[in-house]
Amino acid sequence: MTRRRRIYEGKGKVLFEGPEPGTLVQYFKDDAVAGDSDAKHVVITGKGVLNNRISEYLMMRLSEIGVPTHFVRRLNMREQLVREVEIIPIQVVVRNVVAGSLATRFAIAEGTALPRSIVEFYYKGEGGQRPMVSEEHITAFGWAAPEDLDEMMNLALRVNDFLSGLFLGIGLKLVDFKVEFGRLWENDYMRIVLADEISPDNCRLWDIKTNERFDRDQLSRGPGRVEEAYQEVARRLGILPEGGPRDLKGPKVMQ
Ligand code: UDP
Repeated sequence: MTRRRRIYEGKGKVLFEGPEPGTLVQYFKDDAVAGDSDAKHVVITGKGVLNNRISEYLMMRLSEIGVPTHFVRRLNMREQLVREVEIIPIQVVVRNVVAGSLATRFAIAEGTALPRSIVEFYYKGEGGQRPMVSEEHITAFGWAAPEDLDEMMNLALRVNDFLSGLFLGIGLKLVDFKVEFGRLWENDYMRIVLADEISPDNCRLWDIKTNERFDRDQLSRGPGRVEEAYQEVARRLGILPEGGPRDLKGPKVMQ
């Protein structure tokens, strides 16, 4: 087995040095953490395989409409090749419906539709801290320049419009999601590109008719429920072969 240099390990993924300079291999784990701060570690069998496939599909569709991403190609069941970017330490959250921390913060009922999409920023701090920050903090502390932040907001809203429509087409409401961006350097030229992953680990997806949750909020009902929910998302997207996630063998032509 070839030994690869591990660059970073997070909750759901490991990043390894890629085969060529300027590339990384993103490995999707089955691990998840229940809740935000109480590091209750659980393993959800098959989650990494499903997230690898779902994120590949969504990144490819987004790149077709001109959203730049770090994604190059899926390598196997759990790995994808990505461009190496300088990650901007800001999580951009877009919300269409009240849920999660927004519901708690303002004591508004989960499920309340928002009159317009809301964009929020969270700083990815040391030790898993995730304080909400404003544009002022981001530019004053130099995490991103004002023009980079504008670009991140524009891209996040385009992602929201496109994915809201895509999920609506398969009977799912995109309640909210989190994205991350990176700086991609090409000689002296820099572009902001979508990085990380887009999967049910960082989206809230509710059935449009029943409001059933198809995301990691199912964790409170047990790891098996999460696997079922993620499988259902992949199935509705038309990317889950009959035999389930362990049967995903290699690249195939998308629908
Ligand atoms: N989210 C994420 N990573 C985090 C926290 C949140 O991907 O560390 C996503 C989450 O799945 C949801 C959105 O960001 O789609 C908004 O999350 P919220 O602020 O409501 O926090 P939560 O209630 O999920 O802790």
